[in-house]
Amino acid sequence: MFVKSLKKYNMPDEKGFFGEFGGAYVREEFKPVLKNLDKAFEEIKNDDNFLHELYDLLVEYSGRPTPLYFAKRLTEKYGKGKIYLKREDLNHTGAHKINNVLGQALLAKKMGAKRVIAETGAGQHGVATATAAALLKMECEIFMGAEDIKRQYSNVQRMKLLGAKVTSVETGTKTLADACEAASNYWQEHANDVFYILGSAVGPHPYPKMVRFFQSIIGAEIKEQILRIEGKLPNYVLACIGGGSNAIGCFYSFMDDIDVKLIGLEAAGEGLNSPKTAASLNTGKIKVFNGFRQYVLTDENGNVKESYSISAGLDYPGCGPEHCYLYKTGRAKYEGITDKEAIKAFKLLSEYEGIIPAIESAHAVAYLEKLMPMTNKDDIIVVNISGRGDKDTDRLLNLMEQ
Ligand SMILES: *Cc1c(COP(=O)(O)O)cnc(C)c1O
Repeated sequence: MFVKSLKKYNMPDEKGFFGEFGGAYVREEFKPVLKNLDKAFEEIKNDDNFLHELYDLLVEYSGRPTPLYFAKRLTEKYGKGKIYLKREDLNHTGAHKINNVLGQALLAKKMGAKRVIAETGAGQHGVATATAAALLKMECEIFMGAEDIKRQYSNVQRMKLLGAKVTSVETGTKTLADACEAASNYWQEHANDVFYILGSAVGPHPYPKMVRFFQSIIGAEIKEQILRIEGKLPNYVLACIGGGSNAIGCFYSFMDDIDVKLIGLEAAGEGLNSPKTAASLNTGKIKVFNGFRQYVLTDENGNVKESYSISAGLDYPGCGPEHCYLYKTGRAKYEGITDKEAIKAFKLLSEYEGIIPAIESAHAVAYLEKLMPMTNKDDIIVVNISGRGDKDTDRLLNLMEQ
């Protein structure tokens, strides 16, 4: 159900490096906290009782396993390979984020924490964290940029209803990267009794490998399902990349299967060559940011630059260290998808399959336009639908009418 390790691919190293990426760039005094977390994580990872308890929650509470659905009409439209959709949108709270949050919240409980904190941009991770905190009876505080609080007010209300405290972050551009900074600072001051539930495969070691582990259930299920349905592995696995958690969750199971092509779709915003983008792999520079070494968008002075994307969940100036490594080594490919292409795919999937995807997930769907003409009839393409699109419907309908 979770992928503990692979035969060949063996990353990260003990210090949390994926090649030159990752690591843990935090104050010296704080390093023991991360070490302790790493130790606790390695223990539960090999503890069958813990894993059963978590798996039970994922099944009974969140509704796993999610279906691997054959998209017949979409397949017919392109007339080439067979398209399957991994339905992470059918999870409780509407996205893959709950997989990771339930894992970390249960670990927090085992470690004796009574309070959890989290950062959130669009509010999806905040809602998932507040949900898990309610379920496991823990106090919860969510850090959110003041700008995002305005833009995503319905999620703020959901978090409050679930019993969480929402703290407005007034620094910088008052968006996600500032919320990460604020949550991380708060955590470094209250590490004794607070557990920081990080929302993506980012942050200092051991977070990226921990988030990968909890999300690896997606790819493990895909593998099992496609072998049962088709009797062979897929040729392509597609997923959108914000920090990279849904993508690494999909990819990890296939890392040793070198014939399976892994493709991550970054938010290009108004284009890879435009200043308004969030495509950190395709256009960023290598730099330490938010506690780890990664590709980050920078301005002409080398300072971290604000990102832009129509999709709040992909609107982050950096990228998880493992994707940086896979990009540099070429094991996975990363392409940019513009706002316009994503909107088109949002509409396409709704009309052809009756599935309204999150605008983040629509970035993965959009790549089919480029990929499908190059495929053959017996190719199999799996697209991860990381979340559902209710949250985006009003806004996108308005944009489409303009
Ligand atoms: C948060 C979010 C993402 C982006 O996060 P990753 O860590 O890159 O997966 C993608 N899709 C949905 C629906 C999200 O809520």
